[in-house]
Amino acid sequence: MLTSYQLTPPKLDWGDDGAPHSKQFDDVYFDKESGLEETRYVFLQHNNLFERWASLDQKAFVIAETGFGTGLNFLCAWQAFIATATADQQLHFISVEKYPLTKEMLTTALRMWPSLSHFSQALIEAYPEVCHGFHRIELEQGRIQLTLWFGEAEDGFSALNADIDAWFLDGFAPSKNPEMWTDTLFQHIHRLSHTGTTFSTFTAAGIVRRGLKNVGFDAHKVKGFGQKREMVVGQLSQQAAPLAERMSQGQAWFNLRPEQPLEAKNVLVVGSGLAGANTAYSLAKQGIKVTVWEQGNHIACAASGNPQGMLYPKLAAQDTPVNRFYLSAYLYATRLYCKLDQDKNFWDQCGLIQIPKNPKEAERFQKLLNTGLYPEAILQACEEKQNSLLLPLSGWVIPGKLCGTLLSHELIQLQLNTRLDSLSPIHIGDSTRVIGWKAKTGEQEHNFSHVVLCTANDTKELDSAPNTPAYPIRGQVSFLDINKAAKACEKNAEPLEKLHINKVLCEVGYVSPAIDGLLHFGATYDLKDKDTNIRGEGQKRNLAILERLLELPKDSFNSEECGGRVSFRCAVPDYTPIVGPVQSEKLYKQSYSALSKNAKWQSSSIAESINNLYINIGHGSRGLISTPLSGCHIASLITNTPSPLEQEISNKLHPSRFIIRDLKRSQTN
Ligand code: SAM
Repeated sequence: MLTSYQLTPPKLDWGDDGAPHSKQFDDVYFDKESGLEETRYVFLQHNNLFERWASLDQKAFVIAETGFGTGLNFLCAWQAFIATATADQQLHFISVEKYPLTKEMLTTALRMWPSLSHFSQALIEAYPEVCHGFHRIELEQGRIQLTLWFGEAEDGFSALNADIDAWFLDGFAPSKNPEMWTDTLFQHIHRLSHTGTTFSTFTAAGIVRRGLKNVGFDAHKVKGFGQKREMVVGQLSQQAAPLAERMSQGQAWFNLRPEQPLEAKNVLVVGSGLAGANTAYSLAKQGIKVTVWEQGNHIACAASGNPQGMLYPKLAAQDTPVNRFYLSAYLYATRLYCKLDQDKNFWDQCGLIQIPKNPKEAERFQKLLNTGLYPEAILQACEEKQNSLLLPLSGWVIPGKLCGTLLSHELIQLQLNTRLDSLSPIHIGDSTRVIGWKAKTGEQEHNFSHVVLCTANDTKELDSAPNTPAYPIRGQVSFLDINKAAKACEKNAEPLEKLHINKVLCEVGYVSPAIDGLLHFGATYDLKDKDTNIRGEGQKRNLAILERLLELPKDSFNSEECGGRVSFRCAVPDYTPIVGPVQSEKLYKQSYSALSKNAKWQSSSIAESINNLYINIGHGSRGLISTPLSGCHIASLITNTPSPLEQEISNKLHPSRFIIRDLKRSQTN
């Protein structure tokens, strides 16, 4: 368990020309005279990238690197890729960095390379908050996908689910940084490689050459760059195990990778709420044609249709995989919203203040701050309100407009009033392999290569959907005309400024800064309540929240003056969404029954190939945070490209986790 998501910035000396030198490792990031040529020689040329990209017959090429540093290798690879590969091909670049440069340091360091300024500018703009974990950054309209792991190299590669085509083994010289070049690191490099994966490294040190040879790579010395005598290159010539098996790490039941990946020609996404819109958008960004079926007569007509929502990540005081999921999803969502909404149409990153409900919670907040788990840019003490927390990156969203923006991508075709009635798999002859799905709506039938169910509480009604413990929770939100609220304030001789908040306020409920003259607040949390009507008692409960948050006297407002909306969150008992492939429960129970005898039993044997049916539901009240990264994860599974999630996190989200949990539990019962 991690004690902090904060990372130490590197200790740097800067040369007169702006070149960084690491004081910690007493080594350079790049050669200031010929850094560009050295990168091209060592990493691009010696992985044969120019030749491989010129004749590339796969949709995506994946590079992984040890030591992101200033991103120079990445920028050179990006520049060469777009000049060499065709426009429909994508580059995934994965890199790990234990001492990430701050944005300011990166800006200074990259000033040295004016010929790369187009690329470095975009990288600097998109550079994530320095916080432990994976960060997915999309550049060139999604054609370049950068996945950064901030943390120890070995941990990043052990958490990765990806199939690497070429390795850039950079990092400070092994003599100066022996801790990085461990046997476990080499084992993961091997696990993540397929037959034909290449590597190159600037160093000729025995520890690196032997380490790679020991895990099965061919490795040999070649002439180094410039004055340097030698460097090492090689490839994996031996037969590698299938990807699914290599990724399983003993838990084959959490498999995400198909045995024979099927090209994503046309994907059906069912549902146009936050989960559906984000999934469709992530796929479209990868150049895939998507059809979205929505049973309602407009988009986001269920829980995602509330007039205003806020991003409330509820950060825990302790590190857990689920907390790490929400944290990385939150950072990804806020970056995406800033990028998509330049003219503040649906998103305002105004910040959120979390006020303690009672002294006990105030104490908990204090402890949370004292743990130092989060970087200040993410969580800090609030100066405006005593004992409260400030989340500066948060804000509010108009979810319907956000969904509209996502769905307006040119590769997405939206069909309203189109209910999915049934789904049936398409096979060739007697083969059990699923090569697509027939989807029926009314009298019409259409074929799709893949289907993603983003159907929240309606999932239960679909025959091909898995059994899940997801359940609805009624939520009523309220809104009030700010002029009417102002009159109530005047009547009570309360200052009007109290209504003009500039940040989202949260306690038992929330209130957001007014939009279009309306203050939005709420929400009720009604279990086992199916009432779709707006209820006066609900308005009163919400008004009590509003009065408390704005520090106004009780009964300042009249519930009849409020508007409202009722919807049903799709919740999951373990507070974690259900995101991933749909597998056969029957087959799982047969194949993994050994778990009921021994919960620690491990298996790399894949029971069932992925059949191109996926699900993305159960985002509760946190869909604004969790759906963008979940959509990105689903797209990575469908395109068979690197997942933006740690393996442990995708296991927690996996739709089959309930079957596995029940098998393990049946041992003790
Ligand atoms: N590829 C970089 C570039 O293009 O600028 C230069 C990399 S620099 C020579 C080596 C990098 O490895 C440094 O940024 C350093 O912080 C990082 N590093 C060193 N030890 C590490 C470890 N154990 N885990 C992750 N990163 C590490």
